[in-house]
Amino acid sequence: MKPRTTPDKILARTAREFDALKADLMQLGFFCKGTVLHRTLKCGRPTCPCAHNPAQRHGPYFEWTYKGGWQDR
Ligand SMILES: [Zn+2]
Repeated sequence: MKPRTTPDKILARTAREFDALKADLMQLGFFCKGTVLHRTLKCGRPTCPCAHNPAQRHGPYFEWTYKGGWQDR
């Protein structure tokens, strides 16, 4: 009988994948500098509750802005 994928192999592969994901995440963390704005929006329809009640506005939406050295000239 030919040995199929052993638990050890699966474990090793999973560990490798985990390391790769971790590396991606570290890179992401490195790029995640910037400002996150939290905003709510009015849709503009006069019949919508958001028109007269700020608490009923739509959202929240998160807006991420990043100032790169070369972008802001
Ligand atoms: Zn609305």
